[in-house]
Amino acid sequence: MPGIIEDSPLEIAIVGGGIIGLSLAAGLIKQNVKVKVYEQAKGFREIGAGMAFTANAIRCMGLMNPDIVSALRSGGSVATSMDEDDPNDYLRWIDGYNKRRKDDPSHQTMLFKIDAGYKGFEGTRRDMFLEALVKVIPQEIVELKKRLDTIEEKADGRVQLKFTDGTVAEADAVIGCDGIKSRVRELMFGSDNPASFPHYTHKVAYRALVPMDKAVAALGDYKAHNQHNHVGPNAHLIHYPVANQTMINATAFVSDPNEWPDDKVTVVPGLRSDLEDVFADWNPCLTALIRHFPEKLEKWAVFDTWDFPAPNYNRGAVVLAGDAAHASSPHHGAGACCGIEDALCLVTLVKQVNATLAVQTTTATTTTKTMKKEALAAAFEVFDNVRRTRSQWLVNSSRRVCDLYHQPEWGHPQKWIKAETCFEEIRDRSLKIWHFDYDGMIKDTVDRYAEKMRP
Ligand code: FAD
Repeated sequence: MPGIIEDSPLEIAIVGGGIIGLSLAAGLIKQNVKVKVYEQAKGFREIGAGMAFTANAIRCMGLMNPDIVSALRSGGSVATSMDEDDPNDYLRWIDGYNKRRKDDPSHQTMLFKIDAGYKGFEGTRRDMFLEALVKVIPQEIVELKKRLDTIEEKADGRVQLKFTDGTVAEADAVIGCDGIKSRVRELMFGSDNPASFPHYTHKVAYRALVPMDKAVAALGDYKAHNQHNHVGPNAHLIHYPVANQTMINATAFVSDPNEWPDDKVTVVPGLRSDLEDVFADWNPCLTALIRHFPEKLEKWAVFDTWDFPAPNYNRGAVVLAGDAAHASSPHHGAGACCGIEDALCLVTLVKQVNATLAVQTTTATTTTKTMKKEALAAAFEVFDNVRRTRSQWLVNSSRRVCDLYHQPEWGHPQKWIKAETCFEEIRDRSLKIWHFDYDGMIKDTVDRYAEKMRP
């Protein structure tokens, strides 16, 4: 006897066409699902900034739909190592503060290095990746200029989405991939619940692009051409080469004990002199580098969802994924990688829901809609169980590593040794991100769903 999905496939609405919403859509189209992506913007405009994916996250993309990996690579993805003698990718931490050698005050002590292996990371420009990703998805799936306003569960079990332009749409399920300021999260928890909104991490960032010749003059040839993270009391500065080694992208993060005055405005004008004050006593290499930053800089307040984490990611046939569920500060550079793991988990679950529906038939008391509703609610509960702890750990861990980079002990000659012990912890945290057992996650997801659906 035919099952119910043959003539009535699942309809899934994704709110938000960022990296996670579009990757998820690309995964779901492989699962005989009718997908719609509702994006508030007029077009897919990402900023031209660089970002990197771990080898592990790229394998997760491939499991959802190999075209996502092709999109990443056609969008200009490259291995981040530029060292001809050693093709492996590394993260490096260096003492940014102390002048440990009296005879050479610009000497910097290398503190720690982790080997991520060959193509351990692949860097890409966000805008180029997104542009290529859009092409993986049939055009009619994406609706632009649709800003979600409300979601309501209808009496028949379907979910209705209302947009700010007054239009409505319906689906069997809604997946909120609408980023750090997620409307879906706010609708889930209410506008009087702090879990609905991101909060200030008490770090501010200043970013600049510095031409390579100036970076080499300040830092020396090797440091300028390779990623380095300079740590010291209450601040750190990370840089890596971009634009075919013609520039470096440098970002300074500074601890701020104060509250941020306005959570609606998170980027404000800043000055190079602010940074010069913070880094005045640091190693001369860094003060020299900062002199090449533009006089006027953007000062960016770093927000995340750690102070009030989402207590759960699911409610009935509505679920949160990516930054909407777990927006992190950028210190692990892995927020999108974690969102890709979410997407793989959801694609796995939708496959299971389809398998359930394929063998079920309607009876006098159960309709197609109620069967879909029950299976989807069970699937999203499994998603919450499988994904919440790991993804919230990432938000927590990102704050933790930043605090370790900013330890006041870096500024105290008798306590350097104490500060340096943090690298044992940083290594473990990095490896937990890079070596995620996605096969184990898939198995766990399938087993938990089967358990939940057992009559
Ligand atoms: P977003 O990219 O924020 O997309 C959300 C989408 O939803 C947007 O298109 C938005 O317009 C849309 N939307 C919002 N509200 C609505 C609404 N009401 N209705 C309809 N549409 C809506 N991660 C890594 O893995 N590697 C890195 O190297 C890395 N570097 C980073 C560097 C920095 C400086 C920062 C800040 C983050 C970095 N991250 C990195 C994290 C990564 O950028 C995010 O985790 C990722 O972009 C989240 O993707 P998303 O699709 O969940 O959300």
